[in-house]
This record gives sequence, structure tokens and C-alpha cells, in this order.
Amino acid sequence: MNTLTHDYQTLLLEASHKNITKAAQIVASGGNVAFPTETVYGLGAGVFHEEAVQNIFRAKGRPSDNPLIVHCAEKQDLVSITDLSPQNFSPFHQEFFDVLFERFCPGPLTFILPKKNVVPDIVTAGLHTVAVRFPKHPVALELIRKTGEPLVAPSANRSGYPSPTTAAHVMHDLEGRIDAVLDGGTCALGIESTVINILANPPHILRPGSITLDKLNTVAEQFGVRFEENSTNGKDKQPPLSPGMKYRHYAPNAQVLIVDSLEEAEAVFVRFSRAKIFTGSAKSLLGKSTLNTTIYALSEQNLYAELRAADDERLEAVIVIYDDVLRQNVALMNRLRKAAEG
Ligand code: AMP
Ligand code: MG
Repeated sequence: MNTLTHDYQTLLLEASHKNITKAAQIVASGGNVAFPTETVYGLGAGVFHEEAVQNIFRAKGRPSDNPLIVHCAEKQDLVSITDLSPQNFSPFHQEFFDVLFERFCPGPLTFILPKKNVVPDIVTAGLHTVAVRFPKHPVALELIRKTGEPLVAPSANRSGYPSPTTAAHVMHDLEGRIDAVLDGGTCALGIESTVINILANPPHILRPGSITLDKLNTVAEQFGVRFEENSTNGKDKQPPLSPGMKYRHYAPNAQVLIVDSLEEAEAVFVRFSRAKIFTGSAKSLLGKSTLNTTIYALSEQNLYAELRAADDERLEAVIVIYDDVLRQNVALMNRLRKAAEG
């Protein structure tokens, strides 16, 4: 567990151009700044600043064998961190990567690529590959460009707990542990990027996200391959191919319980003195509760805020009715099932 005392004065900075310059100076001199992306808030350090990267693991309480994603502003930034020479990365892989990049980047898609030796082992947990993403959020892009090097950036939360989608979430979890937070408002997407490994045969989705299997396969089909989902529900028995998948994730202190019907939800609800019921399409259950309790809507955008609110409201349970809307959202269900395991 993390023994770090609160020895940082964490600056909460509105994400103005002037403050992004200030944040970039902090990162370039070896500090840690949290910043908004289109997925969730990330906790940034320069990829070549080993001590700052080390501090990310300390501040988050993140296990050191869970590698980080490196965030680049430009495709050409890859030159400094990846080794895409033909013996590591065939012309097939290069073309497949180029077309995926054209179609989905910048955006919520992370690639596992062969790394250059200069990338510190602490970033990749000793793996020979490095995870890379090209965020779309203007604040993230400006911060990376002004820092002048790619930034590692895991979610800016305490490891294992719900991810942060606002600057207030970051301050709640990490105030006193990091140098600054750039406040750029609420993250538009609300859940983490899709992580893919195109070096695997067939190519794999290691973590589902808003770039779905179907979207990826529209590109993969041009190359005569189809993506396979590694772990869509967190319950399969395969060994994890992505180190981070095995840990507690996204879980509030409240119990998260997934049920199949309103009847079941209400039977569980009455066992607790403080609980809330959620589902994908709350409208379709409007007025149907026999207990006259409100059924709230759950989406990618509000998932983490609701899980955090559950703890603020000292709920004992978050009950989720698995309906057709949730059934169609593999990424959201992946996070919910992991939260339910916590
Ligand atoms: P987070 O930083 O919480 O968004 O998590 C990053 C995810 O990417 C974790 O599930 C990591 O295990 C995964 N990841 C990062 N680098 C690699 C890599 N080189 N190979 C496979 N998975 C990776
Ligand atoms: Mg995370």
C-alpha cells in the first residue's frame, strides 16, 4: 500500500494556454501533472523522466507490473519510442497500422507496438512492447507538444477505484500526491481507450472501449483478418495477455451487483438500507417499480461519476439491471463487471 504522505502542494489550474505552458514546464522538469483527455483524466509524466514515472506508480498505488500507455501528439513522435523496423514490424503490420491510424487517430485507440530500448523498463513493466495512444483532446495535445516529449498517462485515480472524469475527481484522489491538475471540464467519452495488439495473430482487443470490435473489423477485413476479443466480461479463464487486466479495477466501496430483471433488482434492493438501481434504458422502466424507487440511467459518460457518487452518498450497493442497451455496450459492461468483482 502507498505510504506516501501528502507532501505536494497540488495546483488546480484552469486549462488556459498560459497554464498549459506552466504545466508543461512542470512535466519537463520531472513533475507530474494530471490532464483531461477525451476518455478520462490522465496522470502525466515525461516518458524519459524515470523518477517522475516512478512517482506515478507511488501516487496511484499502482502495481509496478502494470505498464503505462504513452501519449503522443504526432505520428512522427513514434520514432523516439518504437522500433518499427521490418524485422519487428512486417510490411503487413505497417500497412495495417497505417490504415487503423488514418481511420481512428487521434482518438480512443491504443496500439501495442515494439519498443525502442531507450524507453525505460518502468514504463513497460519490462515488456518488449510499448502501448501508444494519440489523444484528441486539445489540452492533452497542447501539453504534449509544449513538453516536447511523449507523456505516459494512466488514469489519474487511486489504483483499483473508479477512474476520474473531472478535475474534482482527480483532486479527491490525488491532492497532495502530484504537482498539478489541469481542469479542462468533463471528459466527453468517460471510459478508457480500446487497447489492441495487431502483432498477435489474429489481432486482439486487450481492453474494449468505444472503438468497438465491429468498427475495428471494418478495417481488419480489408487485410483478410478479424479482431478477437481477449476478455470482454472479465470472467473468462484465459491468462491475461495484458498485465493490467488481472487487478481490481474501477470498484467503489459500495458493492456493485448486476442482475437480470427489475424483480431481481428490487429483491436485492430491500436487503440494503442505502442502495440505488441503475440500468441502460431507465425510460423503459419508468413507473414500473413496485417499490416506487427511481431507476437511474447508466452510460459510458456517467459510469465513473455515479460509482464515485455512490461512495460520497455512502451507499451500500449499486444495483445494475442488465438490459438490451447494456448488452450492446461491451466496453461499459467490461468496466461494470470488473467493478462488481472488486
Ligand atoms: P491504464 O493506464 O489504467 O489505462 O491501463 C493501461 C492498460 O494498457 C493496462 O491494462 C495495461 O496492462 C495495458 N498495457 C500497457 N502496456 C502494455 C503492453 N506493452 N502490452 C500489453 N498491455 C499493455
Ligand atoms: Mg486506470
